[in-house]
Amino acid sequence: MQDDNHAATDAPLAPLTTLRLGGPARRLVTATTDDALVRAVREADDTGTPLLLIAGGSNLVIADEGFEGTAVRIATSGFRLDGTRLELAAGENWSDAVARTVDAGLAGIECLAGIPGSAGATPVQNVGAYGQEVAATLTEVVAYDRRERATVTLAGAECGFAYRHSRFKADPERFVVLRVRFALQDAGGRSAPLRYAETARLLGVETGARVPLPTARDTVLKLRAGKGMVLDPEDHDTWSAGSFFTNPILAEAEFAAFAARVRERLGADAAPPAFPAGEGRTKTSAAWLIDRAGFTKGYGSGPARISSKHTLALTNRGSARTADLLALAREVRDGVRDAFGVTLVNEPVTVGCAL
Ligand SMILES: Cc1cc2nc3c(=O)[nH]c(=O)nc-3n(C[C@H](O)[C@H](O)[C@H](O)COP(=O)(O)OP(=O)(O)OC[C@H]3O[C@@H](n4cnc5c(N)ncnc54)[C@H](O)[C@@H]3O)c2cc1C
Repeated sequence: MQDDNHAATDAPLAPLTTLRLGGPARRLVTATTDDALVRAVREADDTGTPLLLIAGGSNLVIADEGFEGTAVRIATSGFRLDGTRLELAAGENWSDAVARTVDAGLAGIECLAGIPGSAGATPVQNVGAYGQEVAATLTEVVAYDRRERATVTLAGAECGFAYRHSRFKADPERFVVLRVRFALQDAGGRSAPLRYAETARLLGVETGARVPLPTARDTVLKLRAGKGMVLDPEDHDTWSAGSFFTNPILAEAEFAAFAARVRERLGADAAPPAFPAGEGRTKTSAAWLIDRAGFTKGYGSGPARISSKHTLALTNRGSARTADLLALAREVRDGVRDAFGVTLVNEPVTVGCAL
């Protein structure tokens, strides 16, 4: 049958990822409409073929051996703003969409500017940065449910959002996000209240203040660029998957044991970063742990190294293989565990490989 899907065999996946890593897919299909996307997914499911959904490739670590199945590249488009309601097709570039909402004078996602990748992936790990996360403004996800073989609309409350987590990440074989809907705010051209202390401090305002939308967006972009967190093909510090580890969230007893270990190792006055994370739990900083365990910015001598701008980003200096990146990630994870008794968990999705 003629269709509007474009397919290739033995297709390299590395160029589709921001790490530029990973072997080829047996078959690669590019879907530019919702119908074509659903059709490609159904076809794989009907034939029992393993399926990999790939959009911006900015949160993926693909094995050097590649993917023995069909990779479907999500390249759909659609940006619709109706008053304060925004609907984005999954394949829309997220950062461009944020820029358009800022230009339209609407608040709610301005601090998520500069996050690479697609709109459709934002609910997958509930993307967040600088005091905002999509869970706060997302109202609905339209998805193809592979189990029910039907298109469904899930309310935000049904998406199981948590810190860098969701129902989509918990059950990756089930939903294909087709469209994402948001309720933004018209605050007279001003931002949502700034929740991130570093942004507020840089702007000389109190946390909770509203500032002009472009100011909020530009400040975040400046902070991100300084940490290598804005994609730049010329800069190896951005050949990463963003933060490689999530910030650990510890139960009360775990945190007490960890804090004691920190005092033992770093001195009686040393205290780790601690942020309340609900139900007696405390979030600490993965970047702090990595740095204090001796893995400082630029660490490593091989083709995969810690970014020279950000302790949390593991980067491909140009000639790395996935195996090199994983070896570095294991060294960091094990070093932190030996030093502080906390086991870091990777944020990017691994395909055909594991830490
Ligand atoms: C330099 C840099 C900075 C970053 N900064 C941040 C940050 O500040 N905050 C943050 O949260 N993240 C950050 N990230 C991580 C990444 O940008 C986000 O997770 C982004 O949402 C991934 O989008 P993507 O389109 O590239 O997804 P991909 O990498 O293509 O896919 C990621 C996962 O989502 C699945 N997926 C993709 N699209 C769909 C869909 N339509 N339906 C169902 N599943 C799908 C894929 O199968 C895969 O499992 C950063 C990454 C980089 C490289």
